[in-house]
Amino acid sequence: MDLIAEQNLVHKTRDARRAQTMPKLSPAERDTLIKKYHPDHRAHAYRPIKFGPNAGELTVTEVANLLEGDSPIPSDFVPKPEYSVDVLVVGGGGAGCASALHAHAQGANVLLATKLRLGDSNSVMAQGGMQIAVAPDDSPVQHFLDTLKGGHMKNDHQLLKVMVEEGPSIGKWLLELGVLFDRDADGNLHVKKGGGSSKARLVTCSDYTGLEIMRVLKDEVLNQKIPLLEFAAVVELLSDGKGACTGAILRDLDNNRLIVVAAKTVILATGGIGRLHIQGFPTSNHFGATGDALVLAYRLGAPLVQIDTFQYHPSGGIYPEQLVGALVTEGIRSEGGHLVNGKGERFVNELDTRDVVSSSIIRECEEGRGVRTASGHVGVWLDTPLLDVEHGPGTLDKHFPAMVRQYERYQVDIRKDPVLIYPTLHYQNGGVKIDTNGETPAPNLFVAGEASGGLHGRNRLMGNSSWI
Ligand SMILES: Cc1cc2nc3c(=O)[nH]c(=O)nc-3n(C[C@H](O)[C@H](O)[C@H](O)COP(=O)(O)OP(=O)(O)OC[C@H]3O[C@@H](n4cnc5c(N)ncnc54)[C@H](O)[C@@H]3O)c2cc1C
Repeated sequence: MDLIAEQNLVHKTRDARRAQTMPKLSPAERDTLIKKYHPDHRAHAYRPIKFGPNAGELTVTEVANLLEGDSPIPSDFVPKPEYSVDVLVVGGGGAGCASALHAHAQGANVLLATKLRLGDSNSVMAQGGMQIAVAPDDSPVQHFLDTLKGGHMKNDHQLLKVMVEEGPSIGKWLLELGVLFDRDADGNLHVKKGGGSSKARLVTCSDYTGLEIMRVLKDEVLNQKIPLLEFAAVVELLSDGKGACTGAILRDLDNNRLIVVAAKTVILATGGIGRLHIQGFPTSNHFGATGDALVLAYRLGAPLVQIDTFQYHPSGGIYPEQLVGALVTEGIRSEGGHLVNGKGERFVNELDTRDVVSSSIIRECEEGRGVRTASGHVGVWLDTPLLDVEHGPGTLDKHFPAMVRQYERYQVDIRKDPVLIYPTLHYQNGGVKIDTNGETPAPNLFVAGEASGGLHGRNRLMGNSSWI
């Protein structure tokens, strides 16, 4: 069968599928499915870490190799500080910009160093939105419970309490800085429902949420004249010899020179690990997402938590070739988009948690009900035209302009044709251990955003990245 014929099957089965309600799986069924098909359960991909605070614990080979690597600093290098600051913030995404702004507002002398340009990050790519309990029928308690359920009850309760309770004030801070969140007809914040959530709780800026938030945060960092080092990657942390952090060594990527920064406090906000391409998966992540905080903090003695679990987002593109791994926002499923196998059948409740939906897609493909592209990728359909059928013409253009454009660049019209997707490596569920102040067990070393661990348990709920 060619792709066009297979696409036609999606069109032909649409009306019948619209009449169908997909049942929710029982906890036991979800467990069995995940254990059988989720990439976190492929024993051959894991090995014990050889040394350091997590010695003996299992993680994927790619992360274990990273943690056990040699220092890039020559042994005869004598660190002479060129900068001396109160706070060195490492990373120019949402967590880095927000940390720098908060520290600056408290009167600290801040330096923000980032590997690429300010804003080159996963944060600018966030599409689906940010979960904040602001709707009248919602509450931080409900947000807490949904997140706990999504994380298989393995979340750090204290971190989770802080996130759900402080979420609304962070939303207010962003609004005051100028972020243009979507509004309903009455002018209230418009909220959408995300996978695994019991309430509509996602605040959005169409499907450009991260871009809009970062527009404002980047501007504010520049407005406040916070000193910046761009194209400067932290490659090692400095210690007082007793395990406390005293600064960092950076590599200036323009001329390969090492720069030493003495700092009373270092905040690592270097994001996730997508570019390690764990288990050969494509990724939705930007090129700087190479797990740097994990290894930097580990070498200083800070332990990692839940570093054996990763999020494979259900809908990564597999066609056209230029979009392999690129994200197709969960928002499309939130607004009713069906997942359809090669036989024209729905096979999962599309709004279940990401680990369940991804496992179901992998099952369909492994059991021969997937759709193969000419270059050999196998996936399932996401019925995008259904949104215009369900909610009226123009829905995709209005709610998902980024998606429409992402595909239009390659002559695919998602208003007319469904798209082929397969899970893509998206997020590190675990990370560096922190307390509710963001401090690691290594004194003076803090970690913010995706690089930190514990909040999400074994599966992050959509919109919960907590990167601000
Ligand atoms: C395509 C996509 C869509 C997403 N959509 C959503 C969503 O809708 N809702 C949601 O909640 N989450 C979403 N996420 C997840 C969320 O965007 C990220 O978890 C979050 O933005 C991470 O923020 P961060 O600041 O921790 O890391 P990042 O935004 O990735 O920033 C990390 C920064 O650190 C820099 N850096 C890395 N290593 C070093 C180093 N050694 N030295 C100096 N700098 C370094 C990087 O260059 C980058 O600037 C999405 C992720 C992706 C990839």
